[in-house]
Amino acid sequence: MRASQFFMPTLREAPAEAELPSHQLLLRGGFIRKLAAGVYTYLPLGWRVIRKIEQIVREESDRIGGIELFMPALVPEELLDETGRSKLDILFKLKDRHQRPFTLGFTHEEVITDIVRHTVSSYRQMPLLLYQIQTKFRDEPRPRGGVIRAREFIMYDGYSFDTDEQALETMYQKVRRAYTRMFQRMGLRTLIVDAEAGAIGGGSNEEFMILADSGEDKVLQCDKSGYAANAERCELPDPKLTPPPIDDVPPMQKVDTPNARTVEEVCAFLNTTPDRLVKTLLMRVDGKPVAALVRGDRELNPYKLMRAAGGESVEMMDAETIQHLTNAPVGFAGPVGLPPEVPIYADYELRGLQDFITGANAPDAHLIHVCWGRDFPEPIWADLRVAQAGDPSPRHPEGVLREVRGIEVGHIFQLGTKYSQAMGAMFTDADGTQKPIIMGCYGLGVSRCLAAVVEAHHDEDGIRFPITVAPFEVILILVNPEDAEQRAAAERLYAELLALGVEVLYDDRDERSGVKFKDADLIGIPLQVVVGRAVKDHQVELRLRTDKNPERLPLDHAAQAIAERIQAMKAALQPTEEV
Ligand code: ATP
Ligand code: MG
Repeated sequence: MRASQFFMPTLREAPAEAELPSHQLLLRGGFIRKLAAGVYTYLPLGWRVIRKIEQIVREESDRIGGIELFMPALVPEELLDETGRSKLDILFKLKDRHQRPFTLGFTHEEVITDIVRHTVSSYRQMPLLLYQIQTKFRDEPRPRGGVIRAREFIMYDGYSFDTDEQALETMYQKVRRAYTRMFQRMGLRTLIVDAEAGAIGGGSNEEFMILADSGEDKVLQCDKSGYAANAERCELPDPKLTPPPIDDVPPMQKVDTPNARTVEEVCAFLNTTPDRLVKTLLMRVDGKPVAALVRGDRELNPYKLMRAAGGESVEMMDAETIQHLTNAPVGFAGPVGLPPEVPIYADYELRGLQDFITGANAPDAHLIHVCWGRDFPEPIWADLRVAQAGDPSPRHPEGVLREVRGIEVGHIFQLGTKYSQAMGAMFTDADGTQKPIIMGCYGLGVSRCLAAVVEAHHDEDGIRFPITVAPFEVILILVNPEDAEQRAAAERLYAELLALGVEVLYDDRDERSGVKFKDADLIGIPLQVVVGRAVKDHQVELRLRTDKNPERLPLDHAAQAIAERIQAMKAALQPTEEV
């Protein structure tokens, strides 16, 4: 490709709103352009990278027996009614001319399950792994970082269908290894972490994170074992605390705390510290009221409560019900005197705490000198609080959790029968019995990977693409287009490289050489070949984007040497993991 005939509108400066390096560089380098919040065009350079990422993802999926299809972006809303997901506020919704409700696909579990329930009926048709690479639409509350969190984005989504849990486990591990290979091939080093299933639901699931300080996700990593988890999911061990004696604790007492609702306000008012306070959170698990207790300086992890209570959904209780249950406005709930049908769960840590402060279930009042087992029944102990850096590891007795930031590039789930049950996707097993199909689903953010690659590979001058996903393998820089000898050499080398199948961007533009070098560094093509003054000695210069020491190559052998160099660079990114 001749740069003079290409379309690569670079910008001198990135718009002020771009904070992440990847966002700035992709805008400046002319890879993406914003149309609206979270809605981007992939300009030619960006699109070439996207196509390479897609190709890697395709090849690795096909290697493990995946079969590609393409589902519609336009999805009838009634299909999502079958699983209850039509209520999600992340959905873009629209109506057709007959006022029939549609959504724009945000992920395709329902669509694929609909296909499979009408086509797969026998154990002989499984295992089956179907996948697509499609545009997804999500009305994200906070689009961010350019294509990292967009509202329209490209995703790889795979779905597996198996006859039993064992087969699902085998499939899941295969996909997991394929993902590892995909990211290795893109030059991304990923950490696999335990994760929360979110709106997808189902059983065990893991995320692939690339570590970056700018990452939105908080990951906690044990310093002694291999355990790593999204902070949303991270387990904590039961510290098995001994309850302090309560013989000397004065009787529970109600005190007025006018307008003091928050932990800070109550502590200021009662002149105490948050670790002497117990927060009572009224929640609903599968619609039923549940109370959760955590120390005043801790956060409740609602999903931990959901699992402790054996439920599948969790939400905060509405203010009206709270008022009804506690006879007080929100902010004064406590465990003492709750109706017996509301089970009380408490974080493990509270087993070591007595003589604490709680809400009084009365307006503007709190209770002091409260003891569990005395003033209210011993609660159900569970791991309920959000884990944080410095907490003990759940996997090693001496391990401590450390925090790193990550960007989630992939997420794989063992769904089990959540969708097949809800939508009636059944099969006849070898013994003749009817069973729900066992499913898995696998998502990978193709467009997010464009940003992730840049986040992982850049310096102050621009992007440093790994060769496997670079928009071109080589940028051929003609230093002085006026110089007939230089131009002839560049044209010759360009033709030779093309003949060898090398992807070359030939910067033949009528620009100052300084501009060309700056642009070359910015757009990050891994090999820079400079045709300049050295042509007089029948030589060209080869520089790596990652190592500026130029190397001289004789013009006659340059094309061959460059092609070999490319092969070596590609080989270095070959995955080590087998499938
Ligand atoms: P997040 O927690 O980041 O909102 P998610 O867990 O809802 O994402 P999944 O449903 O697991 O996302 O989607 C699979 C993959 O698609 C993610 O791992 C991520 O790489 C990508 N992805 C998800 N949401 C977006 C988005 N808004 N923009 C770009 N890529 C996204
Ligand atoms: Mg996810």
